Amino acid sequence: MDGKAPSADIRRRGVMLVLSSPSGAGKSTIARSLLENDHSFEISVSVTTRPRRASEIQGVHYHFKTQREFELLRDNDDLLEWAEVHGNYYGTPRRPVEEAIAEGRDMLFDIDWQGAEQLRERMRGDIVSIFILPPSMKELLSRLTRRAEDTVETIQTRLQNARFEIEKWRDYDYVVINEDLDRAFESVRAIVQAERLRRDRRPGLFDFVADLLAEKPA
Ligand code: 5GP
Repeated sequence: MDGKAPSADIRRRGVMLVLSSPSGAGKSTIARSLLENDHSFEISVSVTTRPRRASEIQGVHYHFKTQREFELLRDNDDLLEWAEVHGNYYGTPRRPVEEAIAEGRDMLFDIDWQGAEQLRERMRGDIVSIFILPPSMKELLSRLTRRAEDTVETIQTRLQNARFEIEKWRDYDYVVINEDLDRAFESVRAIVQAERLRRDRRPGLFDFVADLLAEKPA
């Protein structure tokens, strides 16, 4: 080092943030707020065989596929993880994630516990997982009903599945109870902030500290 001050702009690995919760616990709202408020994040757009809801846009909310198209992607190993959720297939396209990691960009995954489990196995050090819990089952049902985009049968299936999904809370790094949306969102932001500062996510620290110690302050 030639006596120049070291740069504090340290390159880090991207945070791969997995948000899971039973349907209706507020995960999608929190994910949306994070994307709007923190432009470092981009969302992983999943492929699914679920029918498109009226409010959803092809390629933005999901890549909607036929079962045959989905199976082709899965069999070509184009999916980093995939799972059957509420009777439909969902999966995470591999390429955008690999590119984000290589370029140090942060990525958000709105996926279920089965997907989280697979990503943890495949990308151990890069994954940070948060489970969002509803404050009560009563509140969960009322949120599912208010959404009014799903049929009564779909709502019933999702409520039945919620109990089983909630059992998976122990596998996650963090748990946030979404009683108040603003507070839950702030908790998620705090987790992200701390995770970005983790030593093992910042290989550039080695050079920074070496430069720091080589600097002649006078
Ligand atoms: P929804 O049909 O309400 O959009 O999503 C249903 C569930 O599927 C949610 O829990 C959501 O997080 C999960 N999901 C969405 N995309 C994926 C994915 O790519 N992989 C997995 N494993 N789950 C997903």
